[in-house]
Amino acid sequence: MKTLREKVDQAKKVQKLLTKAFQVLRKRFRMVARQRYMCCNGCAGSALAEEMRGKLDPQTFGGVVLTTKQSGVFVEPGTKLGSTARIHDVRLTYGPLGIDGKKFGPDAKTVGDRIAEVFDELGVPYEWDGDPEVSIKVVPLA
Ligand SMILES: [Zn+2]
Repeated sequence: MKTLREKVDQAKKVQKLLTKAFQVLRKRFRMVARQRYMCCNGCAGSALAEEMRGKLDPQTFGGVVLTTKQSGVFVEPGTKLGSTARIHDVRLTYGPLGIDGKKFGPDAKTVGDRIAEVFDELGVPYEWDGDPEVSIKVVPLA
């Protein structure tokens, strides 16, 4: 049995790895990679479409990977050592970006495979069976 302190430390470590992985995804594949972006997927999608409309290069754009304020928190703020653990998996949303009914970037399977490739390289603990319909889970306690 891990103590809460160990779980929180582990979650923080994984958080660092995830941040590093997002940097690699931006550089290597020209993805838009953001953490704790907007409140939910719906708002994130429309905010990104708004921001990127007319600005992205369809030739090189590598797709989107993001977490939202709902899906992207490993350790709940206010979790105190000694209290009930509030440590979660982080769920990634990924795929092409939809702008005005058009899709930009590679399909979700390709984007997911690239994320998995970088996670394997960096040792980010995650669960994903390769199905592009399913979100990729980053698991802090693996
Ligand atoms: Zn929202």
